[in-house]
Amino acid sequence: MNNLLADADICVKCGLCLPHCPTYNKTQSENESPRGRIALIQAWAGGHLETSKKLAEHIDNCLLCRSCERVCPAVVPYGRLINNFREQISAERDSTLAVSLLKSVSHNKTAGRLAQSGLRFYQTSGLQKTARLLGLPGLLRLDKIDHLLPDYHEPTPLAPHYPATAEVRGNVGLFIGCMGSLLDHETVDAAIKVLTAAGFNVYVPEQQTCCGALDLHAGDNETFRQLAATNCSAFADKSLDAIVTIASGCGSQMQEYRQAEFAGKVVDISQFLIKSGCDLSDQLLPLSASVCLHTPCSLKNVMREEQGAAKLLQQIPGIKMQPLPATIQCCGSAGSYMLDHPQMAQALLNDVLAAALENQPGYLVSSNIGCALHISAGLRERGVELEVLHPVALIARQLK
Ligand code: SF4
Ligand code: SF4
Repeated sequence: MNNLLADADICVKCGLCLPHCPTYNKTQSENESPRGRIALIQAWAGGHLETSKKLAEHIDNCLLCRSCERVCPAVVPYGRLINNFREQISAERDSTLAVSLLKSVSHNKTAGRLAQSGLRFYQTSGLQKTARLLGLPGLLRLDKIDHLLPDYHEPTPLAPHYPATAEVRGNVGLFIGCMGSLLDHETVDAAIKVLTAAGFNVYVPEQQTCCGALDLHAGDNETFRQLAATNCSAFADKSLDAIVTIASGCGSQMQEYRQAEFAGKVVDISQFLIKSGCDLSDQLLPLSASVCLHTPCSLKNVMREEQGAAKLLQQIPGIKMQPLPATIQCCGSAGSYMLDHPQMAQALLNDVLAAALENQPGYLVSSNIGCALHISAGLRERGVELEVLHPVALIARQLK
């Protein structure tokens, strides 16, 4: 309680964060703003406000995009404040079936393997089409997950080690993430191909597990700490120069692990390649296409590594980059937010898609799988054919 009050008391109520808050911009309600949420937590922690569903809802409606934290002159640790508050009222909060399923699949390797086989059968046997015709996903309240599923691709089995294919520059550990290993094999394979081509020995520890973001944001700090400890032990090898991530949602969480040695090595893959001085332009085939660049909130507001993807992609000869306007905020995916807050998630996605489609790009790239799935689902629903992929997947396709 003291921690909550100490963090909340840092806020001087200046309101500079308000125009940067997606939920405030959509609702114009103080209770849906960073300043309002901080005041609610302050009142609750000070004993002036009862725990209630309404209070939990205002805090749950926050995307944890952390745009407010980035612009706050008083440096309020907003993410920590919300996570600590959610932990204290976790008993008052409900978890949907979709989110519970997501957690089981992401935490348990056997459940993950079963999900993989189930997904293959669901999508390749025609069951998905039949289930949709009968409205089954909606009846089971799994329609949001069903809409997010990309087409099934058979995964390539992973080896624990991939040697550099160019002059050796160093050793990196690759963090795949639970959703990457289940739904985005192209990015996993691409990361290995690009890193080894750039001269890095790539280690993929089997023991690695979910980053724990879903649990922390749901107030389950104990599970989060256990997952963090497993990942720290999986990547304990002192010879690793960096722990490279291909999903900024995971990377941003892991950079905030208490284990400083691990956290300090975590870096987004595009940023890592640029920071290491890798120039792949001679190895890349030209691409005459315009590419819309979506920058996830976790990459921009938490990792603060938003420059890497654009700089990396600019190494492709002939490419034309189209970043989204700075006025565009969170896309609404925000971990499990898109599953349990579909209306706000959809409203925010509409803004992103309107801006992205204005210049009719040939591709849309995003460095976070959650955002990519949410944006792809929105495009499919509108009948728009625009491929969404990770920046490193596009680089790998262009490698000679
Ligand atoms: S969170 Fe920061 S920017 Fe927002 S009102 Fe408080 S002090 Fe001002
Ligand atoms: S984290 Fe994002 S949604 Fe939450 S209060 Fe801050 S700006 Fe608003």
